[in-house]
Amino acid sequence: MAKVYYAKDADSKNLAGKTVAIIGYGSQGHAQAQNLRDSGVQVVVGLRKGKSWEKAEKDGFTVLEVAEAVKQADLINLLMPDEIMPRVYKEEVEPHLKPGSALFFSHGFNIHFEQIQPPSNVDVALIAPKGPGHLVRRVYAEGFGVPALIAVQQDASGSATEVGLAYAEGIGATRAGVIETTFKEETETDLFGEQAVLCGGVSSLVKNSYETLIEAGYQPEIAYFECFHELKLIVDLMYEEGLAGMRYSISNTAEYGDYVSGKRVVGDASRTAMKEVLQEIQDGSFAKKWIAENESGGHEFLRMREEESQHSLETTGAKLRETMAWINQKKSVKA
Ligand code: NDP
Ligand code: MG
Ligand code: MG
Repeated sequence: MAKVYYAKDADSKNLAGKTVAIIGYGSQGHAQAQNLRDSGVQVVVGLRKGKSWEKAEKDGFTVLEVAEAVKQADLINLLMPDEIMPRVYKEEVEPHLKPGSALFFSHGFNIHFEQIQPPSNVDVALIAPKGPGHLVRRVYAEGFGVPALIAVQQDASGSATEVGLAYAEGIGATRAGVIETTFKEETETDLFGEQAVLCGGVSSLVKNSYETLIEAGYQPEIAYFECFHELKLIVDLMYEEGLAGMRYSISNTAEYGDYVSGKRVVGDASRTAMKEVLQEIQDGSFAKKWIAENESGGHEFLRMREEESQHSLETTGAKLRETMAWINQKKSVKA
């Protein structure tokens, strides 16, 4: 049984008098910095001059060059894109790390795949929110929290777990539950989840089903609603009440189709592919490919991003969503 920590297990005293440097002010950075500040934690933001710098200043933070923020901090959380982190760490973080300070992450990639190798005199821990940054902020502001994982890779101070739990409390995660794990488990399962289901699997399922209807002569707008828009409504039911709760709400016809056709669409072939994907995550070949892609300029990554953005699902969807006032009101991702 996994060990799960809640508010009663965390003590904010473990961050009292400490300065936290949040390096990066993107999806996770802005959310964690703001939640910590609202929880009474002393926060500085470390950045280079540019868009995020201006945004963090506008939000009322003390913003410093990365090296300067690290010098002032007792706890440094690296919250910039994983592929950029190793260089920034080597050049701007490591030279200024104080013995006894703590280096935190929200994802274990660079530690697990040894792209960052911290000195042995600092704590190395992971507080990985299980949700996108904009929800980490929104849910906290609503008085709740997004669950998180905690892992300690190096415990130089002897109190890395306590400090980690205080941090998790500061971002609101102990309100929802903080599950103990390792960097290895977090990294491998996070990559698998996003590739097989959350990002890759779902995008592909939606695209393939949408294209199937269009190729069969149905209208794109109808295909969009059936294969994409309704997904959110179904997932909300699953999220709140499990698969059975979702099935309670749908028609018996939909439920019967679920049982007989679902496993044909995502069946043995998909399970074989999932095992291959997991294998490539575990043996490091996915990481190697992603690191090499970035070292050679990331051109293929950008090409795929561009190609995907041109898909008819996207152009059809964008037009339809313009008329959906309730979505436009709630939109937070690009705010
Ligand atoms: P983002 O892509 O949103 O980070 C962008 C931020 O990093 C910007 O503020 C950017 O500033 C800054 N940045 C980029 N390059 C540099 C640099 N050279 N020096 C200083 N700052 C720089 O990152 P995420 O929030 O998506 O991810 C952060 C970490 O959290 C990753 O480890 C990720 O795996 C993990 N994570 C992310 C989740 C998410 O919701 N996105 C979910 C769970 C974990 P500028 O404007 O100047 O470019
Ligand atoms: Mg991830
Ligand atoms: Mg229907």
